[in-house]
Amino acid sequence: MKIANSVLDLIGRTPLVKLNHVTDGIAATVLVKVEYLNPGGSSKDRIAVNIIDAAEREGKLKPGGTIVEPTSGNTGVGLALVAQQRGYRCVFVLPDKVGEDKRAVLQAYGAEVVVTPTAVAPDDPTSYYSVSDRLAREIPGAFKPNQYSNPNGPLSHYQTTGPEIWADTDGTITHFVAGVGTGGTISGSGRYLKEVSNGRVQVIGADPEGSVYSGGTGRPYLVEGVGEDFWPTAYDPSVVDQVIASSDQESFDLTIRLAREEGLLVGGSSGLAVSVALKAAKHLPADAVVVVLLPDGGRGYLGKIFNDTWMRSYGFARVTEDRTVADVVK
Ligand code: PMP
Repeated sequence: MKIANSVLDLIGRTPLVKLNHVTDGIAATVLVKVEYLNPGGSSKDRIAVNIIDAAEREGKLKPGGTIVEPTSGNTGVGLALVAQQRGYRCVFVLPDKVGEDKRAVLQAYGAEVVVTPTAVAPDDPTSYYSVSDRLAREIPGAFKPNQYSNPNGPLSHYQTTGPEIWADTDGTITHFVAGVGTGGTISGSGRYLKEVSNGRVQVIGADPEGSVYSGGTGRPYLVEGVGEDFWPTAYDPSVVDQVIASSDQESFDLTIRLAREEGLLVGGSSGLAVSVALKAAKHLPADAVVVVLLPDGGRGYLGKIFNDTWMRSYGFARVTEDRTVADVVK
């Protein structure tokens, strides 16, 4: 029999898929690691298990405890999954730019959600960092995973994501590309891939234009889950050889092309990562093997990137035109 003991056993071991269409004119092989196939729908399931395991081991999370975290949604889903299976309560703090669908998903898993304004400084008392700090102080038995500084986040990628990529490419990977949010994915996977290849694998960070990782000041951008206006300790810059920025338009163009041309319905940060990977791959020879991590799926963005009205309201190129029956039956 092939049975998972619980949904948690299905986290990780995601597949690598070759891109065949958006790579027109590129000699190198470009592979994507499809993280939406994790049970919670994103790469964040990996860090959730590792962070909660460690908190239980270290006595920071006890039976009946509450998990409090500021999260753009995906970390919340991972934490909600693990918490639910282990009997913990979850309270998540979200900035108001996060899509309605993502909030509803958290609530569907049984978590509580608090929404905070995006357009305030991190030290403002209403910012999502401040509000989550206060809740973590005031709720008895609260544990704050703090994905921005918890070393068990990057460690989960060092122990699982990196080794999976190395094994699945038979050690032929030459470049690794990942978007940078907390920095956990790129730092953990990148460190493993550097070590196992004796420094041969090049690690490239994908950043939205305006974020600090590519030299910006934190200017707002619309791609979710990546870029920062501060430097989290989960990010280890010594692992990253290069950071390349892409605009919202470039990221969204690639997000839409991945769905239409590669059959991969993914989120905006996946479009960003592929956009950056293609910029890097343009200059690479045919024997280069570029692996790009796609953090989540596209269903949480149907009202945004895949919605004409939303895209046009921000001045982005339109996606599709609806046709009415009258257009067809003339
Ligand atoms: N994309 C999405 C959609 C995310 O939610 C995150 C996590 N914030 C990332 C990319 C970036 O991953 P990391 O935090 O490991 O840098």
